[in-house]
Amino acid sequence: MIMTPTPAYSLGVDIGGTKTLAALVDDFGRAARTFEAPTPASGGPTAILGTALRLAGLALAELPAGARPIDSVGIGSAGVIDRATGTVLSATSALVGWAGTDIRRAFQIAFPGLSVIVVNDVQAFIWAETVHSVAAGSTQVLGVMVGTGIGGGLVIDGRLHTGAHSAAGHLGHIVVAGAGGLPCPCGRDGHLESIASGPAMTAAYHRVGGTADDLRAVAAAAAEGDALARGILNTGADAVGSAIGSVANLLDPELIVIGGGVTGLGADWLGRVRRAAARTIIPAIGPLRIEPGLLGAGAVAIGAARLARPVPFPENGTP
Ligand SMILES: [Zn+2]
Repeated sequence: MIMTPTPAYSLGVDIGGTKTLAALVDDFGRAARTFEAPTPASGGPTAILGTALRLAGLALAELPAGARPIDSVGIGSAGVIDRATGTVLSATSALVGWAGTDIRRAFQIAFPGLSVIVVNDVQAFIWAETVHSVAAGSTQVLGVMVGTGIGGGLVIDGRLHTGAHSAAGHLGHIVVAGAGGLPCPCGRDGHLESIASGPAMTAAYHRVGGTADDLRAVAAAAAEGDALARGILNTGADAVGSAIGSVANLLDPELIVIGGGVTGLGADWLGRVRRAAARTIIPAIGPLRIEPGLLGAGAVAIGAARLARPVPFPENGTP
């Protein structure tokens, strides 16, 4: 007789600069019962945590009958996160007052009995794509998210690499050509994020006299033949490509996985990123695959949940 295993889930939460998402994540890395809301980013930590805890509660209440009780929650959050304490060490101004927030404690109080881990959101993203998706089977992976900010995540020798100060992977804050003098949200200037993030490209369009509320509007202008808008998007893509090519030269990854809202610009943007990276990567390392993440909006929650509840082979990967 074939026994059907009891389905097991972990709770995954993604606290991003724009949206917050909670989901039940099964052992195959599938997000079920997903709940999402805008992050009240300007409302301070109490409001941000309140939204995250509310969505987490909604997801927990949807645990299917017969499933194992949930014993763990993983949270992927924007900012530099101290893995040992689950506290935000630093964050950009996008999440007002977020630095110093004890995320783990808030979840422990709200959901007694659950083990709680907290990681940076890009680190969670690349872990999900490595364990369950496009980078499955790889042990050296560079992850990049290009959106409101630009972040990176590193899998080295099959382990998530977080660095000496939990801050490894800050790909958005390396110096790139063309960004000199442009202020970066980190407080320095000349960094990749100051020329290639969504807000940076929108601001660049404003500087040349364009009017657009957001990156989507800049992209629409480019699609209608606005050469200034097109040039700004191209400059951003070139900068992302040369930056990740440079980092690839340092790390020698098997592949690069790219995600985040700016990837919504589509095949033209990604193709340009790939070409710029190819021009930068040394022959010993290239040609190197640069692939979009496949897990979509749930990737951060999936990766955080998987870090909270690791699953042994052969449950890893696609069922
Ligand atoms: Zn910076």
